[in-house]
Amino acid sequence: MIHRRALLASVAAAGAAVATSRMRAALPLSGGPVILSTWDHGIPANVAAMEALRSGGTALDAAERGVMVTEADVTNRSVGLTGYPDRDGIVTLDACIMDGDGRAGSVCFVQGIKHPVSLARKVMENTPHVMMVGKGAEQYARELGIEQLPNVLPDDVQKAWENWKKESRYQPVINIENHDTIGLLVLDANGRLAGACTTSGLAWKMHGRVGDSPIIGAGLYVDNEVGGATCTGVGEYVLRTLASFLAVERMRMGDTPQQACEEAIRRIKARHADVRNVQVGILALDTHGRHGAASIHDGFTFALHKDGKNQLRKA
Ligand code: ASP
Repeated sequence: MIHRRALLASVAAAGAAVATSRMRAALPLSGGPVILSTWDHGIPANVAAMEALRSGGTALDAAERGVMVTEADVTNRSVGLTGYPDRDGIVTLDACIMDGDGRAGSVCFVQGIKHPVSLARKVMENTPHVMMVGKGAEQYARELGIEQLPNVLPDDVQKAWENWKKESRYQPVINIENHDTIGLLVLDANGRLAGACTTSGLAWKMHGRVGDSPIIGAGLYVDNEVGGATCTGVGEYVLRTLASFLAVERMRMGDTPQQACEEAIRRIKARHADVRNVQVGILALDTHGRHGAASIHDGFTFALHKDGKNQLRKA
């Protein structure tokens, strides 16, 4: 019988081996770093990510620091502790982070954690695991000295939830403010990639529901050999197609980031009979600094920081 500690050590060693075997020589990027992120809130997130790079941080630091801005934004209703709660009035958070060398960390269904992305990074860097959920992840946060805050809804959120409860009808509606995850991809000046994705999930979701955002391959996937992709929208549609992984693999086969995004959206539509009321948006960035963006419906905005400009665009 394998001793548990020995097993954990061998899992950790395997993780390190993955990272080492996937490392490649850095290729300086002629155009400088590129940062790509979902929705309007991507603009300030991109600024923080770029600052992290300028102050000597890695692509991973930049990805984390960028989405932390959105997590801390108390006006945001779809990311962080002030996001809309589930149907029981409880805010539960999902996040993941991935380095282009293949390392990844994720937390799902956590409560009271201001920066779930940073907890996901701790899971990646300090444990032999990739994903931790619920009470166990919260316990790990406490062990790290991360404060767990009480579930207090801002007044307008409390009112919106009480309003919703009158009919208690859960219906994903495209592009309204009941979903708007931040997914952010970074390509640093050495051609190395990282990404992060964080959300409070769909408003009024069932308690315990987890979407695509913290799932490596669904909400986010990054590979230094090819590029990265991240998704937003109704997570169930992304989960059924592993859209981020699909887009990265399409780029590996020769697609441009734009073609890869369009193929992922085509696949989602092909696998679902009706997407009339469902929005999914996907972004992709390759190692050359080229980007792509696509969505099922119009209205998906994204922020691109490139060549010294940080601009909001439409997919
Ligand atoms: N993808 C997220 C989820 O399904 C929602 C969003 O993008 O806003 O939880």
